Amino acid sequence: KTIEEKQYLVRFNCDTKSHLEVKSHEICDTKCPDKDCTIFCPADVYKWEGDRMFVGYEGCHECGSCRIGCPFDNIKWEYPKGGHGIVFRLA
Ligand code: SF4
Ligand code: SF4
Repeated sequence: KTIEEKQYLVRFNCDTKSHLEVKSHEICDTKCPDKDCTIFCPADVYKWEGDRMFVGYEGCHECGSCRIGCPFDNIKWEYPKGGHGIVFRLA
């Protein structure tokens, strides 16, 4: 299966509060021309629009890449509260 096909095998129990936060949009804007998070995130959570980063946290697969992938340690990442976040189905 492709990654895209596998993504349909997950469902989400979304928290109302984001477990992800970009700490400084200015750092993204001025120091990170490649916007690495928009490339390494497998779930396309990060979208750069205009002068700020939009974080579609509801789609996060909790892979943890953004905790180590952001070259400026500019993403605050916490595990979603118990019972929230991704639920993997065995299929
Ligand atoms: Fe901002 Fe980090 Fe994403 Fe770069 S990788 S755009 S610094 S959040
Ligand atoms: Fe994307 Fe993984 Fe970070 Fe979630 S934990 S936002 S899926 S890179």
